[in-house]
Amino acid sequence: MAKMKFIVTAGPTREFIDPVRFLSNPSTGKMGFAVAAAAAKRGHDVVLVAGPVSLKTPKGVTRIDAVSARDMFAAVKSALPGADILVATAAVADWRSAACAAKKLKKREMSGVLRLVRNPDILKTVKGVKKVGFAAETNDVMSEARRKCRAKGLEFIVANDVTQKGCGFGTDTNRVTFLRKDGSVERLPMLTKAAVAGRIVRECEGLGL
Ligand code: C5P
Repeated sequence: MAKMKFIVTAGPTREFIDPVRFLSNPSTGKMGFAVAAAAAKRGHDVVLVAGPVSLKTPKGVTRIDAVSARDMFAAVKSALPGADILVATAAVADWRSAACAAKKLKKREMSGVLRLVRNPDILKTVKGVKKVGFAAETNDVMSEARRKCRAKGLEFIVANDVTQKGCGFGTDTNRVTFLRKDGSVERLPMLTKAAVAGRIVRECEGLGL
């Protein structure tokens, strides 16, 4: 098995409105850290681009911390030279505040309306590496996954229904389905995130360099 260079994104991003307030989501980074650990264990080079999470860096992994989506994008770009594959597990905020105030906004200064602008789609934009994405959905799981796999130019996408018990944000288990670009589908049973990560890394190895 050839040694590969993985870039893995993990965790949420924070999009600050002022120095003490931000938009974010409940991602804990567990799935991405498990993928990074599994890839390092199998002897690959791994750069883990982590949003703000409270997890220990897995052994043998180079970690770059990022806060916002734009930070995360810059970190991924910095890791691209020599990389073979990007596994994007991060729950990147799709929107950020159009402005970030330099000082804490007083309640009386807030109108109740927050203007948002789109963040870059890291996975969609990156070129020159093989790409693997995640689709955490609450409904229409497979059709959304198929659409994202095509739209973002992925080798395969890991789909999961986050409304199922034991799946999604913060759990130690996950039940996922691989949907490959050739249309083939593989449903995995409920597994620990470590076991799911192992299956993802082996699927990546099977893509060849
Ligand atoms: O379109 P959606 O956000 O559901 O796609 C999810 C996939 O795209 C995940 O793999 C996620 O890490 C990645 N993504 C990204 N940058 C964004 C939004 C999503 O890399 N701004």
